[in-house]
Amino acid sequence: MKYGVNDLGYYGDFGGAYIPEMLYPNVEELRQQYLTIIEDPAFKAEFDDLMKNYVGRPSPLYHAKRYSEKYGANIFFKREDLNHTGSHKINNAIGQILLAKRLGKHRIIAETGAGQHGVATATVCALMGIECIVYMGEIDMQRQAPNVSRMKMLGAKVIPATSGSKTLKDATNEALRDWIANPVDTHYIIGSVVGPYPYPDMVARFQSIISSETKKQLLEKTGNELPQYVMACVGGGSNAMGMFYHFLDDENVKLVAVEAAGKGVDSGHSAATTFLGREGVLHGSRTILMQTDDGQVIEPYSISAGLDYPGIGPQHAYLYKINRAQYVSITDDEALQAGLLCSQLEGIIPAIETAHALAYLEKIQFKKDDNVVICISGRGDKDLDTYIKYFGF
Ligand SMILES: *Cc1c(COP(=O)(O)O)cnc(C)c1O
Repeated sequence: MKYGVNDLGYYGDFGGAYIPEMLYPNVEELRQQYLTIIEDPAFKAEFDDLMKNYVGRPSPLYHAKRYSEKYGANIFFKREDLNHTGSHKINNAIGQILLAKRLGKHRIIAETGAGQHGVATATVCALMGIECIVYMGEIDMQRQAPNVSRMKMLGAKVIPATSGSKTLKDATNEALRDWIANPVDTHYIIGSVVGPYPYPDMVARFQSIISSETKKQLLEKTGNELPQYVMACVGGGSNAMGMFYHFLDDENVKLVAVEAAGKGVDSGHSAATTFLGREGVLHGSRTILMQTDDGQVIEPYSISAGLDYPGIGPQHAYLYKINRAQYVSITDDEALQAGLLCSQLEGIIPAIETAHALAYLEKIQFKKDDNVVICISGRGDKDLDTYIKYFGF
């Protein structure tokens, strides 16, 4: 695959595994085994069975008629919001729990910011009867109390990270410390296409089910498996990479990745990584990230917890640099308005993350025969309070 990872774990200049020496055995075990395991027919059969009967796949490709009329093109929604647990994150969590089982691991750790990845991880651990420990910043635990309760109900242990800013990056540090201390029996489930190689490639493969289904569904609905546009929001970039994956080599398909501009790219409160970032190392890989002149990571901001991340996965950094995909951004206000529009035109309340991708429809001049696919990465139930506060319902 032209835009895939090379044997050394790089996409052009990006990727690799920049990890402390003490993590080397864990990451090296994964690197040596992941492809053999996930390409094994028995693994694939178990993954496919759970995707169908547990997650509810294939997720529909819905022709959004009122959106199509409004924007003057054929707009299709790839409905990841209909998955069990409400977003695309479950695809990766199932893939990694099956991998962990085959590696003989008895214990799962994860870090979570808003709690979405923590809930997906706790879900698959319950499914498999495996011990689950989720690290979460103490402040995030207060802000996202319902997700903490969900994880506990699913049987996970949630451990507060009490150092630093008591948010996601501190939770990540705690999880890494745990993994160093428990290299033999523990697997670390990362929730997006980030982290040291092989995580970005592994997570992209698990999420690529989104675009493999989409191709078949488009062929059925339009007579052509290729659309003119494929669009998705980007935090770390896993729903976007899953949505782009099987279209990457089809150079005529325009790929549009939508980042969170927050209060505006120049406001000092933003998460528009490609616009504000520079090359550097974040969470174990070389990528593009928001940093000060002396290399300190800048706190990102977005109203959507899932897009509030200071970097992007290394494959995205590569696609950005070589111009294979277009990276754009949408503000909080634009996203919230788009979430309202989608609710009232299509009867679908999207996650605020997803609403960023929907908002960008306003900025493209389509031709009337264009086929456009947008990844509806998640449902908006979790964001209802934010919508209510903003619109005053
Ligand atoms: C976590 C999340 C995202 C952002 O993560 P990616 O890895 O960039 O996909 C987007 N949408 C929803 C609904 C999420 O839960």
